[in-house]
Amino acid sequence: MKHLYPLTIALLLAVPASAQRTAPPTPATVDPHVAGLRDAALKDDVAYDIVEGLTTEVGARLAGTEAEARARDWSVARLKALGFSNVRNEPYRMPVWVRGAEEAEIVAPVAHRLALAALGNSGSTGPRGLTGELAVFATYGDFANAPAAAIRGKIVYIGNAMQPTQDGSSYGASGPARFTGPAMAAQKGAAAIVIRSIGTDAHRLPHTGVTDFPAGVKPIPAAALSTPDGALIERLAKRGQPIRLRLLLTPRMIGERESGNVIAEVPGTDPAAGIVLIGGHLDSWDLGTGAIDDASGVAITAAAAKRIMDSGRRPRRTIRVVWFGAEEVGGFGGKEYAKRHGTERHATASESDFGADRVWRFETQLPDSAKAVTARLASALAPLGIVPGSGGAGDGTDIAPTIATGVAGIDLNQSGLRYFDTHHTPDDVLERVDPEQLRQNVAAWTTMLAIVADAPEDIGAVPRP
Ligand SMILES: [Zn+2]
Repeated sequence: MKHLYPLTIALLLAVPASAQRTAPPTPATVDPHVAGLRDAALKDDVAYDIVEGLTTEVGARLAGTEAEARARDWSVARLKALGFSNVRNEPYRMPVWVRGAEEAEIVAPVAHRLALAALGNSGSTGPRGLTGELAVFATYGDFANAPAAAIRGKIVYIGNAMQPTQDGSSYGASGPARFTGPAMAAQKGAAAIVIRSIGTDAHRLPHTGVTDFPAGVKPIPAAALSTPDGALIERLAKRGQPIRLRLLLTPRMIGERESGNVIAEVPGTDPAAGIVLIGGHLDSWDLGTGAIDDASGVAITAAAAKRIMDSGRRPRRTIRVVWFGAEEVGGFGGKEYAKRHGTERHATASESDFGADRVWRFETQLPDSAKAVTARLASALAPLGIVPGSGGAGDGTDIAPTIATGVAGIDLNQSGLRYFDTHHTPDDVLERVDPEQLRQNVAAWTTMLAIVADAPEDIGAVPRP
């Protein structure tokens, strides 16, 4: 909180010249009921209790495993205890990948043991491992442009170092090394691939994450090295001698298993006005306890919905909280939700899956009939240090399939400046959650719900490309 405040102020002061020429819109009056809910939420303890409980009593929750099933049971019990209506689990089946042994060492020109983690959907080296020469690429572009002859039979290394950005856009820029690098390496005939972690820290903790091998591409062993180990490889490569790596990875696909979405509701008074869909994902990677990714998201959204439920005034629209299953490994829960509920009328959809640091910006994509909602949000969120953005809204893997049907979106953007320091690492634990910043999130979501769920405007479909 302390170190983000100056940045927020700097952003407010740095108004671009083009914006200075346009007269600012007349600020909307903030409803005292909304302001009261917002300010009370700055003392919220419900969200922290959910994060603490889920990370302590369940822990890591890899999609489709027994741990994720325990997390669903825990969630149903907790959401009922909090007083929500229609609490239920909606199961579906999905293919499940589990981690095995993982070891790597440089064997020449200088011996170094490396810290690594297999990527989700990685193939196996077999129990004896494999040793090969590294083909080192500092960037994804260098790798993508390299001929197959430079890669065939080798172990590919891709650097593609990531920088922190407040809006998280550098994940999109650096991420392809993980998202599509392994499949491309397989297609170019590589024996295996190791990437520098898609992360912004300099600690010796690898960042896992899913990769995708399209149908017809046989998965090769694929892992992320900690960023210092990636830097080590790049320094060795500059010295000009061939680098040989020994790699042992034995993950497995274990077939179809059950996953599920946990749903809870605050019933509204006007079913025809559409559902306000909010949530995060219940599954996590298996290395840490998934505190920032995404116990925080499920906690923030549920805590905010509970504040509306307990406010003494029933909302006009039903607020539906969904704790999606199996997001990390391919967004299975979000797709299943849209399949089951896509024909119900949704007014808006919003997702929290970017940690628990301060919300600094909001975005809306609303039909013309509901443009006034944006002005009311701007006025009510301003005291929390939240500024309006100028892009579209509806970001998030889990709401994407619902958004794609033409549902309006409202995003509350957390700062991404430190999110990728611990994202998908063993260090994603409760201690990474700042209780004060978490409360600011609950206040932002409570404010959004108080305005949107009660908005008298019609919130219908928006055109989506
Ligand atoms: Zn996540």
